[in-house]
Amino acid sequence: MPGFELFGDLERKEVNDVLDNGVLMRYGFDGMRKGHWKAKALESELQSTFKSKHVQLVSSGTAAVSVALAAAGVGAGDEVIMPTFTFVASFEAIMMLGAIPVLTDIDDTLGLNPDAVEKAITPKTKAIMVVQMCGSMANMDALQAVANKHNVLLVEDACQAIGGTYKGKPLGSIGDLGCFSFDFVKTITCGEGGAVITNNKEYYINADHYSDHGHDHVGNDRGAETHPFLGYNFRISELHAAVGLAQVKRLPEFLEIQKRNFNIIREALAEIPEVTFRTVPDGGVESCAFLNFFLPDLETVNKVSKAFKENGVDAFWNYYNNNWHYIREWHHLKDLKSLYPISTEVRKGLENLKNRDFSKSDHYIARNMSCLIKLSWTEQEVRERATKMSQIIRACI
Ligand SMILES: *Cc1c(COP(=O)(O)O)cnc(C)c1O
Repeated sequence: MPGFELFGDLERKEVNDVLDNGVLMRYGFDGMRKGHWKAKALESELQSTFKSKHVQLVSSGTAAVSVALAAAGVGAGDEVIMPTFTFVASFEAIMMLGAIPVLTDIDDTLGLNPDAVEKAITPKTKAIMVVQMCGSMANMDALQAVANKHNVLLVEDACQAIGGTYKGKPLGSIGDLGCFSFDFVKTITCGEGGAVITNNKEYYINADHYSDHGHDHVGNDRGAETHPFLGYNFRISELHAAVGLAQVKRLPEFLEIQKRNFNIIREALAEIPEVTFRTVPDGGVESCAFLNFFLPDLETVNKVSKAFKENGVDAFWNYYNNNWHYIREWHHLKDLKSLYPISTEVRKGLENLKNRDFSKSDHYIARNMSCLIKLSWTEQEVRERATKMSQIIRACI
C-alpha cells in the first residue's frame, strides 16, 4: 500500500516549487506564490480521481472524518454507527464532535454487517459510517438501503481503499460524504493529510469553512473574511499538498503494481483448500492494498503467524489481539480514559461496551490474516514470498 516506497524526483520537484517562493500556506499570499497553488491543484486532481464534484483537503484522515460529520450537521448526542473492525480514528473523530460511536458487528466482507446496522438504528442515529478496510468494501447497496429507509447519512471512510471501486464508482464516492487519509502509510501520501469528498455543495462549503476557522473564503483579503459559523483548524499545508500532487499522478502506476503483487500471492494461496478469502460484494473491485484470507481457526492463525515470523515473511497481521484496529483491545475506549471530562450522553452510550457481545465479529477477525501488499517488491520477490507462504500454511494445517 504505501506510496512512500516509491518516493522520488517528482515529489521533490513539487515541494521545491513551494520552497522557491516560501508560501507554505494554502490560502492567501497571492502575489508571492508565483502561480503555485498546490492544495488547489491536488483538490482538482482528486475530483477526477474520485469522480466527485467537490474535494476539501484537510490535515489528516482523522480530521477528514470529523469534518465530514460536522459538515453534515452531526454533533452532540447524535449516534454514529461504526464497525468493530476499523482504526481508532473512527471513534476519535466521532467523539471529538460530542457524538456517540455505536460499535456494530462486521460480516465476511470485513465491513459493517447490514443486518447488524439495521438493528443498531435508534431515533438518535444520524449517520452510518462504513469503513472500507484493507482495500475492499462492505455491501454498499444493502447499507445504502438501510440508510435510505431510516433517512440517515451514509459516510464512507475509504482511507485504506484508495483506488478500489464498487459498481464502477470509486470507493469513497458512494455515500453522502467520503473520507481519505494521505498519512505516511497510505496508498498515496502527503506525509500527513486527508480529504473529504462529496457531491453535495452545501456539505462542501461547510467543510471548506469549518476546516479553516469558519472563514468564508470570499475575496482575497483573508483579514476581512467573515465567519458565518464556528470552525476549527484542520488545514493542510502547501508542502504536504505538494507531495500529494506528485503522488496522485502516480496512482495508476501504484495500483497496477499492487494488483500484480496481490494476484501472484492470491493465486498461490487459492490452491490450498483450507484457505478462503474475504467476500468482495458483487460489483466490487479491490484496490489490492492488502490480501485478506481466512484460515480454519485462531489456533491455525497463531501457528502460521509464528512460522511466518520465523521464516522471514513480514508485513502480515491478525487483528484479534491488535490494539489499533479491533474492539477487543480498545481498553482506553472501554474504560473511557480521557484527559478531560466526557459528556454524560457519550458516557452512557459507551457504558456497556465492555460487556457487549461481539462474537459475530470475533468469528471473522480471529480467523483472518491480512497481508500488506508492498509496492517495492519485485515480481521475483513476490513469487518467492507466495511460494514460501503457501508452503508454511500447508505445513501448519
Ligand atoms: C489511516 C486511517 C485513518 C486516519 O488517517 P490519519 O491520516 O492517520 O489520521 C482513518 N481511518 C482508517 C480506516 C485509516 O486506515
